[in-house]
Amino acid sequence: MDNVGFILRQVDHLTAPTIVCEGCGEIINDYQLAWVVWSKEELKDGERTKALVVCKKNRCNSKQPYRDFPSMEMRDYLINLCRNAGVKTEQQFREAFEFTQLADNI
Ligand SMILES: [Zn+2]
Repeated sequence: MDNVGFILRQVDHLTAPTIVCEGCGEIINDYQLAWVVWSKEELKDGERTKALVVCKKNRCNSKQPYRDFPSMEMRDYLINLCRNAGVKTEQQFREAFEFTQLADNI
């Protein structure tokens, strides 16, 4: 299935980061209903793998092949992604959030 996972889509003349379920292709609008899974059980230090997104709304997280994959909640993935990208403090996160809100209102 194309255009799933972490994608960009055009909405009202804006380019919007969007999460789409790898299992059913539905757009995920509630991060609390999403999981990130990966196919390799154990990664060696420095090894990389793709992050796949599946939804809880349509129970894609409990269907094959995703059911047996290692996983984490989307909330944990997003926070750790920010931290690993250099957002180290709550103040830095707040500033980034406020900047995004400003940019959205331009
Ligand atoms: Zn799904």
